[in-house]
Amino acid sequence: MSNPNIEKNALFKLSYGMYVLTAEDEGKDNGCIINTCIQVAEDPTTVVIAVNKGGFTHDMIAKTKKFNVSVLDESTPMEVFEHFGFQSGKNVNKFESPVYGAKKSENGIYYLSEHINAYLSGYVTEMIDLGTHTLFIATVVKAQKLADTAGATYDFYSKNIKPAPSPKAKGWVCKICGYVYEGEELPADFICPWCKHPASDFEKLV
Ligand code: FE
Repeated sequence: MSNPNIEKNALFKLSYGMYVLTAEDEGKDNGCIINTCIQVAEDPTTVVIAVNKGGFTHDMIAKTKKFNVSVLDESTPMEVFEHFGFQSGKNVNKFESPVYGAKKSENGIYYLSEHINAYLSGYVTEMIDLGTHTLFIATVVKAQKLADTAGATYDFYSKNIKPAPSPKAKGWVCKICGYVYEGEELPADFICPWCKHPASDFEKLV
């Protein structure tokens, strides 16, 4: 569904942050990476998060209505994105061993304390179906600053954290996360196994 009027590179000029989104359901803990968390009202303090429907964290939040957002800072190593973004909570327990100073907040959900400058706890008041994603509108029930470090924007992640593909790599690279598909032709219905973005977000390595 690519629209010739929509230049993907124009959308890449929008600013985003990078966050670890966490949830808990019936004793199971999970988390994923999101780049969309915006405060949209002051009173009551309200945020929106947009979450890909393909992820396990999405389903947990849709059910429990509760989540934490940990705000990643510029010290974040690629391993954090790999740990939370490149594997699914459907197959892996991402909190099996202690990770990045994870602690539980009052809502029973983990937040991270390393590479993080703040976290907040949200309670979902409304859900809007946006096709690939659900927009969760949530009241902030807790927010705490953990450090004065600069938050990692999506642009900072792209330029400083995400590894560049090896000069020898051949094929197609995902412009969102850096995954390399090895092959001459990228199937039109290909979905990035790491970030779940479609083939239109890949570019040919030359
Ligand atoms: Fe990707």
